[in-house]
Amino acid sequence: MDIPSLTIDRVRQALLSRQFSASELAAAALRFAEAENAKTNAYLHFCPERAMAAARRVDERIARGEDPGALGGVPVAVKDVIVTKGVKTTCGSRLLADYIPPYDATAVIRIEEAGGVILGKTNCDEFAMGSSNENSAFGPVRNPVAPDRVPGGSSGGSAAVVAQGTAVVSLGSDTGGSIRQPASFCGVVGVTPTYGRVSRYGLTAFASSLDHIGPLARSVKDAATVLAVIGGRDPRDSTSAEAPVPDYSAHLTGDVKGLKLGLPVEYLRHLTSETGDLISRGVDQLKALGCEVREISLPATEYAIACYYIIATAEASSNLARYDGVRYTFRSATGDTLADMYRNTRGEGFGAECKRRIMLGTYVLSAGYYSAYYLKAQKVRTLIARDFANAFQEVDAIVAPVSPFPAFKLGEKVDDPLAMYLSDIFTITGSLAGIPCMSVPCGKTAEGLPVGMQVLTKHFDETTMFRLADAFENVQKKQ
Ligand code: GLN
Repeated sequence: MDIPSLTIDRVRQALLSRQFSASELAAAALRFAEAENAKTNAYLHFCPERAMAAARRVDERIARGEDPGALGGVPVAVKDVIVTKGVKTTCGSRLLADYIPPYDATAVIRIEEAGGVILGKTNCDEFAMGSSNENSAFGPVRNPVAPDRVPGGSSGGSAAVVAQGTAVVSLGSDTGGSIRQPASFCGVVGVTPTYGRVSRYGLTAFASSLDHIGPLARSVKDAATVLAVIGGRDPRDSTSAEAPVPDYSAHLTGDVKGLKLGLPVEYLRHLTSETGDLISRGVDQLKALGCEVREISLPATEYAIACYYIIATAEASSNLARYDGVRYTFRSATGDTLADMYRNTRGEGFGAECKRRIMLGTYVLSAGYYSAYYLKAQKVRTLIARDFANAFQEVDAIVAPVSPFPAFKLGEKVDDPLAMYLSDIFTITGSLAGIPCMSVPCGKTAEGLPVGMQVLTKHFDETTMFRLADAFENVQKKQ
């Protein structure tokens, strides 16, 4: 059983042909993941009992002659900001180091209903704030491709396990790029669906108007299969959409001839030469497949970072107010008064990045500054969304870089939060607009570092995004 080479289809074939059972696969996958984890620190904890119970249910289905489910027996990892009943969910924070949720996120329930086997929870930046996974209270994750480098963030663990082969697919969360950027850095596929496509019920809130759950996988097809499983309306999340969820994999025809693609001129200015070269080569390959490529303009891009770091911090300052030492486990041992207890709990529990964001967010929401910052940022957000709406009148999809540079060295940017924020420039715009966007591998630099290409489409048109990314992936695999 070569676990790192498994795909959803391969697992299915093996189970149906009785090559191995779901229980055998789960036991082997857990052993392998536990042994390999020391190399990356990508998993924070495993849930063997839950995994074995899920695998047994799949074996019982097969024994009864039933279908094992779209994810039957597939080893899955879940980012530790997504709650799992009875299984620790820390959000990468000291504040939740011992938190055991009493309920499951909707995406988790859907994964298990489809036969998925959750092996464990993955490391991430504290409360999903970061671009390198170095803001985790439980140590950084090493990039499996280059262990002296970051895996990206905040879903660094979820990207690393898929790249390392210790899970077939994983769930991450994306607020401003946290699925696409680590996918790009680790050389895997990462998908941020349309806002509202996947229920956020059970996703620990960072910035609610921007938070998404999405899949990471080693192929576009596997990512598409997972999205079809977790997507769709959920009565427990009023922002989840009624829109029907298509069978995405059925649309991966390889035919992208005549598709009109836009290349945003504003994005190409910021690129380092090697990433830029790989993206241009990718664009040429898409042209060779029969796509029509034209330059487009997204003029509000220059305001995107400022806009995002106002809106995201404002929402975060409100969402993180609940960690007060009264609920959710961690409480400071010192302090004579209630106010001291709050202050000390938050002072000791939150890491530096969360504190920075709570302060920034509180500032931009304060009475005197609300209209100068928060209100203005909301208006800019509308302009950014309008840029995309205008572009999609002309083109079917947009192709762009994911990050200005490939994976950087551990420690390289930790002391410069602004440089870290600037690296989110290409992913933040799609998040602010709420459109579907994904990263698909686009080759490697001379040093062997993966680079991802971003594909963006209009709201709820994940089908075109997957079709284009799949055709592109086929070309990449032939190289
Ligand atoms: N890097 C961005 C940030 O730090 C995005 C994080 C995310 O998408 N969760 O906010």
